[in-house]
Amino acid sequence: MLLDGAATAAQIREELKPRVQRLREAGIVPKLSVLIIGDDPASHTYVRMKAKACRGVGIESETFALPHDTTQQEAEELIARLNADESVHGILVQHPVPKHLDEIRLLNHLSPDKDVDGISPASLGALVAGVAKFVSCTPLGIVELLDRYHIPIEGQRAVVVGRSIILGKPLALLLLQRNATVTVCHTRTRDLPSVTREADILVAACGRAELITGDMIRPGAVVVDAGYNRVEGRSGDVGDVHFESASQVASYITPVPGGVGPMTIAMLLSNTVRAAEMRLRTQ
Ligand code: NAP
Repeated sequence: MLLDGAATAAQIREELKPRVQRLREAGIVPKLSVLIIGDDPASHTYVRMKAKACRGVGIESETFALPHDTTQQEAEELIARLNADESVHGILVQHPVPKHLDEIRLLNHLSPDKDVDGISPASLGALVAGVAKFVSCTPLGIVELLDRYHIPIEGQRAVVVGRSIILGKPLALLLLQRNATVTVCHTRTRDLPSVTREADILVAACGRAELITGDMIRPGAVVVDAGYNRVEGRSGDVGDVHFESASQVASYITPVPGGVGPMTIAMLLSNTVRAAEMRLRTQ
């Protein structure tokens, strides 16, 4: 069965609209500021999608498109300005930033109250401690999708293939918090198929097109594909899971596109609305 991220995200957006309306009636217009540095076309596309999604639920969004040669100090000064701006509730630094910039140092400047992307070291540390205000949107979207399909997490054997700071690691922590037994795989994992075959919930987050094939999946497992890969000669994005073979054995599986991607954006909107609601409560 398909885990339909597009339909679930649409439902979440509908649920957000009355919350945004209530905020507006209380004099708060939820606002997301997005910093994008450089001219990576895919990143610009993602930022446009995020801005459009914001508008769709009544969140204001502003994009700061900075040139590739932006200095660390210039970017940090802009973040400081947005931290101090009362009208801004969420700040997102589009990943990746150009190589001459220290991304972690940049993220360190984000106010934890506005880090709606949940990827600053402070937010990640808070996630480890179980007190995160905001959790990274892709992992959060994956868990939300499982929840909305009533897929149990507690006690399940979860295998996450990938250990990036934005995806694999926070997802492993979230699943652990929900009492799954979690294994994290990476490029040095020996005999990957023998590990993935143990999963009740298998998440592919490795950025390798169709790495996970049907023979690597235990029959009846739930398979979540976070991957988006451009492959020469193929139109559209290709996931980290080989859908044709995997869908023969999985009980539930996310498609690409229409699975994890829309859920990621829905969680960004949800976190931004929550940030504005937190502001309202402290007024
Ligand atoms: P990343 O930073 O490149 O990390 C990839 C991870 O996968 C690394 O931990 C790497 O291991 C591991 N890996 C790579 N090849 C492997 C292999 N052959 N076997 C086992 N592990 C392997 O990627 P990311 O940013 O986490 O993104 C992962 C995927 O998710 C990409 O396709 C990306 O486009 C997609 N993504 C989607 C969304 C969304 O909104 N849907 C958001 C973010 C990312 P090492 O640590 O050992 O190098």
